Amino acid sequence: MESMKEYIEEAEKDLLHTYNRYQVVLDKGDGVYLYDIEGKKYLDFCSGIAVFALGYNNQKYNDALKAQIDKLIHTSNYYYNVPAIEAAKKMKRVSGMDRVFFTNSGAEAVEGAIKAARKYAYLKDGCTDHEIIAMEHSFHGRTMGALSVTGNPKYREAFQPMIGNIRFAKMNDFESVLENVTDKTCAILFETVQGEGGIYPAEESFMKQVKALCEERDILLILDEIQCGVGRTGYMYAWQKYGIKPDIMTSAKALGCGVPVGAFLMTEKVAANSLTSGDHGTTYGGNPLAASAINIVLDLFEENHIIDNVKEVGAYLAEKLDTLVAEYDCIETRRGIGLMQGLVFNKPVGDIITKALEKGLILINAGTDIIRFVPPLIITKANVDEMIVILRDCLEE
Ligand SMILES: *Cc1c(COP(=O)(O)O)cnc(C)c1O
Repeated sequence: MESMKEYIEEAEKDLLHTYNRYQVVLDKGDGVYLYDIEGKKYLDFCSGIAVFALGYNNQKYNDALKAQIDKLIHTSNYYYNVPAIEAAKKMKRVSGMDRVFFTNSGAEAVEGAIKAARKYAYLKDGCTDHEIIAMEHSFHGRTMGALSVTGNPKYREAFQPMIGNIRFAKMNDFESVLENVTDKTCAILFETVQGEGGIYPAEESFMKQVKALCEERDILLILDEIQCGVGRTGYMYAWQKYGIKPDIMTSAKALGCGVPVGAFLMTEKVAANSLTSGDHGTTYGGNPLAASAINIVLDLFEENHIIDNVKEVGAYLAEKLDTLVAEYDCIETRRGIGLMQGLVFNKPVGDIITKALEKGLILINAGTDIIRFVPPLIITKANVDEMIVILRDCLEE
């Protein structure tokens, strides 16, 4: 077997240089731990960027996928398949939305949501110059449409022109949303909890004001739940905490727990007045294997009371992080809900994250100054304690 160093050298020769990867080659996982190819063990507070909610090597999850592989992996959407029919029903139940379209990724779910909103507006007035309001510091993915609504100029700059008629408002600043509303506005889009942009939860008053504005002007509220959804905040979808409901929402990341899946969902009102036969499609989306992943994930969420665990351990994690805020001058504050937390530093956190990795703890950043905590949703309080010990060690150095 080659060493990690040799594999990394090969990777750097062959893979496109779009990532600055940590110098680790991961090999296998078990529960909340990952192992590299040299056998070193890591406590994982990243879960593949908020994906592997159920922890690694979950036997029931693995068995369900294996059974589906032996039966049928792909059919195309020219035909029906039972796993997709079941997954749609389950997603409707946990989200309270009415119609589902399955995609392969988060960005594709955002693309679909944008198309649905534009078509909805088009059917109302026949115009093709509708506008979408997105938020500064948002992240919605790397495809051209999703990039166009991503509020980070650095990601967009070299790839201009973006899709047109996007305006950026400030998250949690209703006045700035109002300033950007015109009679062309067809949708207001934001993450219920901003992830990549620095773990900024929507404030309840902001959410309610935007929702009221949307209802008043027949503007569609699109909530991106790709990172904060599927239990991470202690609610199946984070917006459920706010007593409102979006017209369209997106989901991905933890939805398949590692099998690449996504979805956009909408209310019946939007479904009946937007995308119709021939308007949108996908070769893979909702294929039997992908849908079987969604099915087993949603089943195991119920069976293992994942949401209850997030509420309990999330509160504990927040409490422990708050003690670090009080103790260390370099930490300014903590933000987050449930098991989606950020520690805001007054300096770049890259060195701390690298040090943590050396000590067997996987952490990630959100922006340069924020450490993001998005562990598997099965973590225990003991895992939190274990993480805090290592993090404290890194902070002391
Ligand atoms: C990760 C992410 C996306 C993009 O998902 P991909 O599966 O990487 O395309 C979109 N929106 C949010 C909020 C995300 O966190």
